[in-house]
Amino acid sequence: MKIAVIGSGYVGLVTAACLADFGHFVTAIDKDQEKIALLKAGKIPIYEIGLEEIVHRNMKENRLSFSSNLGEGIKGAQVIFIGVGTPPREDGSADLQHVEAVAKEIAQHLTEYAVIVNKSTVPVGTGRRVQEIISANLRRPVEFAVVSNPEFLREGTAVTDFTHPDRVVIGTESERARKIMEEVYRTLYLIETPFVFTNLESAELIKYASNAFLATKITFINEIANLCEAVGADVQVVAKGMGLDGRIGPKFLRTGPGYGGSCFPKDTRALVRIARDHGESITIVETVIAANENRKKQMVEKIRRVVGPLAGKTLAVLGLAFKPNTDDVRESPSLAIIRQLLDEGAQLRVHDPAAMEETRKTFGEQLCYCNDPYEAAQGAEALVLVTEWNCYRRLDLGRLRSLLQSPVLIDLRNIYTPEEVSKFGFRYESLGRKSI
Ligand code: NAD
Repeated sequence: MKIAVIGSGYVGLVTAACLADFGHFVTAIDKDQEKIALLKAGKIPIYEIGLEEIVHRNMKENRLSFSSNLGEGIKGAQVIFIGVGTPPREDGSADLQHVEAVAKEIAQHLTEYAVIVNKSTVPVGTGRRVQEIISANLRRPVEFAVVSNPEFLREGTAVTDFTHPDRVVIGTESERARKIMEEVYRTLYLIETPFVFTNLESAELIKYASNAFLATKITFINEIANLCEAVGADVQVVAKGMGLDGRIGPKFLRTGPGYGGSCFPKDTRALVRIARDHGESITIVETVIAANENRKKQMVEKIRRVVGPLAGKTLAVLGLAFKPNTDDVRESPSLAIIRQLLDEGAQLRVHDPAAMEETRKTFGEQLCYCNDPYEAAQGAEALVLVTEWNCYRRLDLGRLRSLLQSPVLIDLRNIYTPEEVSKFGFRYESLGRKSI
């Protein structure tokens, strides 16, 4: 099957590469000519485990190609995926300008029946809007169908999430489009992936409702962690005890510095906005958004409580990406914490295995970028661990202690235990547990 994917970012590129790996002939399109030039040269513009190999293999086997010309790229495609960005506007609503521009451009080049699949996260009603835009801009009468197929992949595990998803959601009222989508995902059918077939509106809402629920779960355990500190309980054990209940489950019950990334913050805000636009309110999500904003301030308060006034203090910060295994720093809690620490006059020595270049785009030379965690620790008055990369899980604590000016470890991911850290004579502060 010939498929075009418009937008070659985290979602578009993974979709294009994995669909090619399923055996389809895929053209990945992006208006960013630099990105397309890189991809044509076999270079991957993002850090995503396993992606490079899959891109190279499918390029070599002539199933994956790249284009910055939408008209050329969609020629002959039976299925056209839209995977462009939907960033938040000032008022929290999703900015649909890229989706709408793409819909218009598709219409101008459409010459035969195609299924237009919206993979971007878009407010309820956008599928119908895309339908209207295409109808209004066709150069000649051509049949087409619009499908909503929201994406649930997580950065860091995007390739396995795409090839082994918990479910695939397909929203369409067209039987013909449904059959074509079944063909697109035939490989997943064969491994018995659950499929949810529904209408456009339900598919669009499933994505927002899922992300808002996960954001709520994270925020819930963060607030429980605060309570644990107040009453002398241990959040690790509380979360374990809760998570063993089959109705609750253990995932997303790890306390941390607040959720971030390119999806949860914007999708929770967009859901609140969608509800308001329809005369409803989702107060639980509004509360989650406020609590998550506050969470980052609480982290800075914690650091201040441990090291005292921050002006003139040198701190080491480990982890800049919003989570491990990605270079994405969009709405990263680490960056929000760094901004506050800088505002209060701290000097920061930072390290991240993948996200230093992205961070430099925001902070330039205001930070001292270090080659490894030990260089970051050199002469610092505390080591603050913000993102739980694997390489931070087995640090040489003895060596760190000798490099730090004072032996203080503030672990905002609870990856160490008070017992193991205390052996090295550290003052240790974590979340939802007693400090030592
Ligand atoms: P991204 O910013 O990484 O990539 C978007 C790409 O679209 C960019 O390369 C941009 O140049 C391109 N683009 C914009 N306008 C275009 C146009 N007119 N023609 C061609 N290309 C155009 O974004 P992303 O993280 O891949 O997210 C895409 C969508 O998927 C968003 O709606 C997002 O909410 C959703 N989503 C993202 C994730 C994730 O983890 N990143 C997961 C699930 C869903």
